[in-house]
Amino acid sequence: MATHKLLLLPGDGIGPEVMREVEKIVGWFRKRGVGFETETDLVGGSAYDAHKVSITDAAMARADAADAVLFGAVGGPKWDGVPYEVRPEAGLLRLRKELGLFANLRPAICYPALADASSLKREVVEGLDIVIVRELTGGVYFGEPKELVTLENGQQRAVDTQVYTTGEIERITRVAFDLAKKRRNKVSSSEKSNVMKTGVLWRQVVSRIHKAEFSDVALEHVLADNCAMQLVKNPKQFDVIVTDNLFGDILSDIAAMLTGSLGMLPSASLGAEDPQTGKRKALYEPVHGSAPDIAGRGLANPIAMIGSFGMALRYSFGLLDEADRLDKAIANVLAAGIRTKDIAGPGMNAVGTQDVGDAIVKEL
Ligand code: ATP
Ligand code: MG
Repeated sequence: MATHKLLLLPGDGIGPEVMREVEKIVGWFRKRGVGFETETDLVGGSAYDAHKVSITDAAMARADAADAVLFGAVGGPKWDGVPYEVRPEAGLLRLRKELGLFANLRPAICYPALADASSLKREVVEGLDIVIVRELTGGVYFGEPKELVTLENGQQRAVDTQVYTTGEIERITRVAFDLAKKRRNKVSSSEKSNVMKTGVLWRQVVSRIHKAEFSDVALEHVLADNCAMQLVKNPKQFDVIVTDNLFGDILSDIAAMLTGSLGMLPSASLGAEDPQTGKRKALYEPVHGSAPDIAGRGLANPIAMIGSFGMALRYSFGLLDEADRLDKAIANVLAAGIRTKDIAGPGMNAVGTQDVGDAIVKEL
């Protein structure tokens, strides 16, 4: 039996509360013969309290050795005064950097039971299931020169520079096509090749990789402004959207709002493929933060964290049937009206974090 090594980093605030529900689900699959090995370690404020760092070298080594890292959330007012280098968020930044996580995956899924909570009409979003693949380590956020200078005439001048290399585009393109093959076999590549040189290169590279390695997957090119419009008009036309750092930042927030609460949104960050094993470094985390305002009260919605584990099943472990089964269990629990306060409709009784986890296990 293959074993899948998971490192759990619950973190701070509601992180440990929602991670506990994931552990129940891991336990359920393990009892039915799926080989999960789990370890748990500290990150963020809880690591600072114990070790005066935001993540220890030992935890980093465990993350590096794991097949997937599940990350809860970090931070909170308790650590507002800690030195900048060891602030809770530094733990996540170190993980991203040292694991080389250059691809950020943000799904937008609309469960039929929650379609009325969307800002769009039910028929536009019901059953929506798309993923935005955002390049995370290059582009205009990091390109040089980057400066804000005062000119001789007293005016100021600001410069940001968008830079992409062939290699950076190739690797994010491969992530998107690999993903599409585990889904509905369609990639939409989004850039502005009509006005940007980086867009021209992006389109060329995506087309070349498609032709050489993934010609069985459908590819379309969509200009980023049109893509934003289409996401709001008819989001179900998409499967996987691949785009750069800046456009991905914007498009993934649009996609998130198609589907409702922060407590529902999972994400993944993937790194380079190991040429020997074919495995990618991967970190899965909910989009939400540590939510100090509700922490410790059993109110947090665990579905974003559970959905992040579902992404690990699908994209790190290739357990597609198990991932489908988990998705279906979540959908059924929502349809039965078992919901935390953030997604309970008017006149509905809200239940606690643990009730949702228990109900999902029961559905499984
Ligand atoms: P970050 O830590 O990334 O800066 P933030 O402070 O912007 O995040 P969160 O900590 O995610 O935001 O919380 C924003 C709001 O959403 C809060 O009111 C919080 O209670 C609510 N919220 C976040 N996650 C959940 C959840 N899983 N269930 C219910 N409510 C949530
Ligand atoms: Mg926060």
